[in-house]
Amino acid sequence: MAASQSRGPQTLDQWEARAGALDFRHLAFIDGRFVPAVSGKTFPCISPTDGRVLTHVAACEADDVDVAVASARRVFDSGAWSRMAPRGRKKILLKFAELMRRHAEELALLETLDMGKPIGDSLGVDVPGSANTIQWYAEAIDKVYDEIAPTAHNAIGLITREPVGVVGAVVPWNFPLLMTCWKLGPALATGNSVVLKPAEQSPLTALRLAELAIEAGLPAGVLNVVPGFGETAGAAIGLHMDVDALTFTGSTQVGKYFLEYSGRSNMKAVSLECGGKSPHIVMADCADLDLAATKAAWGIFYNQGEVCTAGSRLLVEEPIKEEFLEKLAKVAAGIQPGNPLDPATKMGAMVDEQQMERVLSYIETGKDDGGEVILGGQRARLNSGGFYVEPTIFDKVRPHARIAQEEIFGPVLSTLTFNGLDEAIRIGNDTIYGLAAAIWTKDIDKAMGAARALRSGLVWVNGWDEDDITMPFGGFKQSGFGRDRSLHAMEKYTQLKSTWISIR
Ligand code: NAD
Repeated sequence: MAASQSRGPQTLDQWEARAGALDFRHLAFIDGRFVPAVSGKTFPCISPTDGRVLTHVAACEADDVDVAVASARRVFDSGAWSRMAPRGRKKILLKFAELMRRHAEELALLETLDMGKPIGDSLGVDVPGSANTIQWYAEAIDKVYDEIAPTAHNAIGLITREPVGVVGAVVPWNFPLLMTCWKLGPALATGNSVVLKPAEQSPLTALRLAELAIEAGLPAGVLNVVPGFGETAGAAIGLHMDVDALTFTGSTQVGKYFLEYSGRSNMKAVSLECGGKSPHIVMADCADLDLAATKAAWGIFYNQGEVCTAGSRLLVEEPIKEEFLEKLAKVAAGIQPGNPLDPATKMGAMVDEQQMERVLSYIETGKDDGGEVILGGQRARLNSGGFYVEPTIFDKVRPHARIAQEEIFGPVLSTLTFNGLDEAIRIGNDTIYGLAAAIWTKDIDKAMGAARALRSGLVWVNGWDEDDITMPFGGFKQSGFGRDRSLHAMEKYTQLKSTWISIR
């Protein structure tokens, strides 16, 4: 499709016209082709933008996972991909990234219709970020060397990394394409075969992606996509005796299931990117309160708050609280839910009705626990047929209130106050999670002290959500373990082999 080389749709009407002409891939993708589920079952794929059924998608279960894993194993053992020279894999993955860019508008549209994020974000962030991820690992793979151990002269000790084999990847719905590519980039570059289960709320981009991978030259069976529900397809991957490693992004609760699945089956290696309740700390000596307020607003309202690293707990030092909340509310009031297909929209729909109801019920819980709503708090765009929630800010939240402890995964910010760095750190660390944190201060000692003391995998100083593919991404505590992004991500898709060669 030469569409991305044209100027592309610029208005709501143009995007809607393009959406009307879309062809949805709706079958499972196994062994290089689209196939129905063995049972023949399907499930409706509903767009949260307006509640309409986009298509009916194959509902894969254990039988389908068996077929997919067998295909992945067959091609892995053949060596067609696993033993291809890294330079060969690089060429195909670069072509894959190029095809993603060539089909950027189509992928962006699928993503927006499927999970409700603004089209501007899908096109400007998710699709390019995903293509860049594949490209980055493609470019890296023929530059990574193995090791030779410092043994005595009568031996050579080789330390080599080998692909683990068949990787099961189970991903969430908040960044369907990007989370998929964070898994696929390093897993495929290192020579593995993959069986991927997208979230049932958002299967469409993964299915199209698998087709593009084949077009790029990936051998059939190296990438299989089994859409379906967690309790069936997801559990079948987790429990499969012939899946060697499992890479998961999703909730902490389901992450724990995968640890169980591994123990009950073949002890497959598990890596988990789970939930968060990230503290966004603003000290009274913050140099730029306007910038901090803007970042704090986008840190929670971007992607409708459906972000694992969302800065959902705002910790403001007492003396500046009133001033800061005023600035924050002003920014937040300008972020209102709109039609996700409108290029002017900055905040879209919640992924489905259930998630919207969950968020609205947390808002009620927050009020019952003594929190004060200072902005939003209601469902929005009622006549659209879709699922929208206003950006919502709570003040006067107690550190142990449920909305200060539990991951809401929606546009709800809890404001807490503190006095002094020690208290900020104590409150900041006081949840089961440890994914991300930030501190705003012009004092280098406070900044460094906080960066060391905050128990989270990501810390930002005077910023929020600054990121790069070169930096590892993942959490401490019940936010999981193992890292996506950077060269370190390759560690979970490879295993070390020690080969001792005696010289007589
Ligand atoms: P979820 O855990 O409900 O689902 C994630 C995936 O697991 C889906 O594909 C789902 O079908 C599958 N699943 C659900 N139940 C299962 C079961 N019993 N057995 C096997 N598989 C099962 O999470 P979600 O609601 O899709 O996504 C939101 C969560 O993802 C949030 O907690 C968020 O913080 C987290 N997340 C984390 C990161 C990160 O990198 N740390 C990134 C994005 C999202």
